[in-house]
Amino acid sequence: MELPDRDMCYRALQSRDARFDGLLFVGVTSTGIYCRPVCPARTAKFEHCRFFGSAAAAQEAGFRPCLRCRPETAPELASWRGTSNTVSRALALITDGALDKDAGSVEALAERLGIGERHLRRLFLQHLGASPVAVAQTRRVLFAKQLIHETAMPMTEVALAAGFGSIRRFNEVFLKLFRRAPTELRRKNSSGSSKRESGVTLRLRYRPPYDWDSMLEYLQARAITGIEIVENGSYARTVGIEGFSGSVQVRHSPARQSLSVTIRFPRVQSFPAIVARVRRLFDLGADIETIDAHLSLDPRLAPFIACRPGLRAPGGWDGFELAVRAILGQQVSVATARKLAEQLVANHGERVASEFASDPRLTHVFPEPRRIAKAKFIEVKMPAARRVALKELAEAASSDPNLFRPFGTIEEAIAKLRNIRGIGEWTAQYIALRAMRETDAFPATDAGLLRGAAAVDGARPTVPSLLIRSESWRPWRAYAAQHLWAACAASISKSRGAYA
Ligand SMILES: [Zn+2]
Repeated sequence: MELPDRDMCYRALQSRDARFDGLLFVGVTSTGIYCRPVCPARTAKFEHCRFFGSAAAAQEAGFRPCLRCRPETAPELASWRGTSNTVSRALALITDGALDKDAGSVEALAERLGIGERHLRRLFLQHLGASPVAVAQTRRVLFAKQLIHETAMPMTEVALAAGFGSIRRFNEVFLKLFRRAPTELRRKNSSGSSKRESGVTLRLRYRPPYDWDSMLEYLQARAITGIEIVENGSYARTVGIEGFSGSVQVRHSPARQSLSVTIRFPRVQSFPAIVARVRRLFDLGADIETIDAHLSLDPRLAPFIACRPGLRAPGGWDGFELAVRAILGQQVSVATARKLAEQLVANHGERVASEFASDPRLTHVFPEPRRIAKAKFIEVKMPAARRVALKELAEAASSDPNLFRPFGTIEEAIAKLRNIRGIGEWTAQYIALRAMRETDAFPATDAGLLRGAAAVDGARPTVPSLLIRSESWRPWRAYAAQHLWAACAASISKSRGAYA
């Protein structure tokens, strides 16, 4: 990532320009503290300012996080780093804990991305201004800081949740970085229960605009009874990770440009993974202004973008779950696919630990690949061929835990998925778009996309012509697809005179 020049950065700082929040951090050499551009503190002198493209870069240069503007609350713009998909993928893997065990795993991380370790370091330096290990450490510290500030979790649990090996190490890092013990950073009025059953609530910021209504509509149309509830403007679902189960509830706080997420889960070490899933599902990492601006360069698409500013590309909560939904959705309506998913969950899903469910209607977690792979018969009313596809998918997912993780290039990821019987080009592209968060994935053969393109251009394109048309939408074709689907839904409801 290239930072704007110093003068421009300084002007952003002077005007407390929120458009730079998450993109720009300023280190003040006279105080040793780094801030978000929106910090309410008095603006430092120009000659005392150093500018960074990430919190990790500021910390690696020796600056401490500001306690007023709280850099940990800046919107995290993983997919904005779309200039380098490799960096986005690496960041997703780091969030999954790829570097939590030891620093030596940078090599393993690079290997998973299909590049050399030196190349990965160079990319990180270029786009984030910091090494992969520094990025991982900064994330740990900032996540711990957020838990201290926003929750009443006991410090030992904060340390565990943020991935610190020991409470001693946690105390050392905080003393060094903030010059005070973690407990001193806790807000005096920090409220809430510390019981895991009643949940821990965190705020996750995004860059506005955010089309929350479209997101909820998308989730509502696909909500699986027993697993998800969409009502009263909020989304709740069960969570199953490594044999543990619980739930999350997500609400929108437009005034604070954030989502409020309540996690009820017995194992705090899973919190970063749960937060990462919420971010992915709700597409919180998008620099939506940049994406909308790019797509608006297409004069025919522009009015549709203007109609739905901040439309997000929903991600998959879990790779396997998403892939199963994609297979169940082959050649049937969304409503039918949803019914099939409900049968699958009722017959094969595991019961959720009820004390961690936010609502008694949340009864099951989505079945794990192993359960489906081992099942003698998959009890879902659908053609035998599709049942075979589900079984093969489950077998592939149980033998390769990284099947739905970013790996190599998008072409390689798609080729790997297409090796599974029953997964064709459409399904593979759809999985890449939703589960792997490939911002450039584009399932061009999708009937809804073709209808949407007809609504935009006035005539239905062929698949090859739509593919050519999509070239100018790169590297954000997933978002163009989302707008085309929305245009398709709108044109259907118009022609039927039904709900808008
Ligand atoms: Zn500040």
